[in-house]
Amino acid sequence: MTPEERTAELAANLADVRARIAAACAAAGRSPDDLTLIAVTKTFPASDVRLLAGLGIADVAENRDQEARPKAEATADLPLTRHFVGQLQTNKARSVAGYADVVQSVDRVRLVRALADAAARTGRPLRCLVQVSLDDEAGRGGAAPDDVPKIAAEIAAAGDLELAGVMAVAPLGGDARAAFARLAVIAARLRADHPAATVISAGMSGDLEDAIECGATHLRIGTALLGGRRAIVR
Ligand SMILES: *Cc1c(COP(=O)(O)O)cnc(C)c1O
Repeated sequence: MTPEERTAELAANLADVRARIAAACAAAGRSPDDLTLIAVTKTFPASDVRLLAGLGIADVAENRDQEARPKAEATADLPLTRHFVGQLQTNKARSVAGYADVVQSVDRVRLVRALADAAARTGRPLRCLVQVSLDDEAGRGGAAPDDVPKIAAEIAAAGDLELAGVMAVAPLGGDARAAFARLAVIAARLRADHPAATVISAGMSGDLEDAIECGATHLRIGTALLGGRRAIVR
C-alpha cells in the first residue's frame, strides 16, 4: 500500500469513528468536544502515527515499552500527547517516564513509587490514571475497586506525578455498559477526594458507545482506526 492509500484508509476510518462518537454523544446529550480520541497504535508502524497526526490526531497510546520507545523516538518531532496503557513492570518505569505524558495503567502502590522516582529523574511531570479492574479475572491488570483510594492518594502525594483520573477495560465477553456504569461510580468517589481527577478513560473499538453513555472522557481506539492487528504470541 502506498502512503497515499494508507492515508485515505486512515482518514475514512477516522471519519467513521468520529461519526460513531457524534451519534453516541447526541444520544447521551453530550458534546463530542468533551471527548478525547486516543489512537492506540500498538503493532502499527511509526509511519502510521505520523499519518494520523497529519489527520488531526493529537493523542496516541502504546502498551509495550519495547515497542513504544522506538516509535516515540521516531515521531519525537510531532506534537503528540503519548499515553502508556499496558501492564507495566516497575523496572520499565524509568523508560516509560522518558517519553510518556500519561500512564493510564497504574494499578499498585509499588508502581506509583517507581514512576515517582522516574519522573523526579526526568524532571517531566507525569500524569497518572488508576487502572481499575472491573472483573475478578487476574492477569489483565487493574486494581480492585477497594484499592483505588490508596493508590490515588499515593499518586497525589508524589510531587512529580499528577493524579488525572481512572482507566478501565470492559470485561472480556461481559456487559460493557454495566462495567462502565460501575467505573462511573468509582470515578465520582475519586473526584470527591481529588476534584482535579476528572479523566475517565473507557471505551475501545467495540464499546465506545457504552463508554460515552457512561461518562467517559477519553476513548482508546485501535482496530476501528488502524485495522486488525496480527495476533501477538507472548
Ligand atoms: C489495544 C488496546 C485498546 C484498543 O483496542 P481496540 O479494540 O483495538 O480498539 C484499548 N485499550 C487498551 C488498554 C489496549 O491494550
